[in-house]
Amino acid sequence: MSDRYCVFGNPVGHSKSPAIHALFARQTGEDIVYEALLAPRDGFADSVRAFVAAGGRGANVTVPFKEEAFRLCTQRSARAQLAGAVNTLSFAGGEIAGDNTDGAGLVRDLVFNLKTPLAGRRILLLGAGGAARGALGPILEREPEALVVANRTADRAEDLALHFAGFGPVRGCGFAELTGETFDVVINATSASLAGEVPPLPEGLFSPDALAYDMMYGRGDTVFLAHARQLGVPRLADGLGMLVEQAAEAFFVWRGVRPDTAPVLDQLRGA
Ligand code: NDP
Repeated sequence: MSDRYCVFGNPVGHSKSPAIHALFARQTGEDIVYEALLAPRDGFADSVRAFVAAGGRGANVTVPFKEEAFRLCTQRSARAQLAGAVNTLSFAGGEIAGDNTDGAGLVRDLVFNLKTPLAGRRILLLGAGGAARGALGPILEREPEALVVANRTADRAEDLALHFAGFGPVRGCGFAELTGETFDVVINATSASLAGEVPPLPEGLFSPDALAYDMMYGRGDTVFLAHARQLGVPRLADGLGMLVEQAAEAFFVWRGVRPDTAPVLDQLRGA
């Protein structure tokens, strides 16, 4: 029988993870099945336990359960511990092991797929929610010149920067305090795009060869990328690459095999 994996979310019907993992399994010859499972908002832990009892080997976790998944784990990787959130669960011997592959996925997309080194560069991360939190450690590992976290609620950005202060040159602030600064990479980790909004950013933020990156993805430009395009920002990317890379990292955690992400990303973009 194939080994069973799934993604838990609510909602989860829109998830591309089953398609991505099916492509990984076909490419690597790993015998797995992977499905999307809707967990009730007040029933995440029960859903996980039922999946384990039915023989599940691992699961991804998406909105809104990443923090609850963190609390449910009996073991946590260092990067999950740092992020305070878990998107990858492994079940074995009665243990629930938690990992967080979101930040590693983002950095792989930036550095390898988009050929955008972070070392010595000035990076701006917009947002201070779960996705931003997962990204801070892996970005700082790349030794940027500066990482600024800016958020609508400035306190949250400042707290986050304080939490990661031991890992590199990071500072938190509100959007208005960015006036007069320029950045080589601007990453939108807010959910503003979901509401069709662009964070209120001062002019002149993008350096002449900057990359504008939106963790959100969809057909065509997100509102953030459309805004950056209008400003003449030369390089734009959405979060589909991050999604595929975090999935590949989860696949590696579970199976010890790293899939080739390029053909999978091509296929998803084609679709
Ligand atoms: P959270 O709900 O944890 O955080 C939301 C963040 O967005 C907060 O910082 C919030 O600010 C800010 N925000 C919300 N609305 C606005 C607005 N109108 N203007 C400015 N800021 C706003 O969400 P996540 O961190 O989990 O997700 C963030 C985004 O990243 C989502 O679009 C999600 O789809 C995407 N994502 C993509 C992944 C991928 O693989 N591509 C993986 C994970 C996430 P405040 O603190 O002030 O409320």
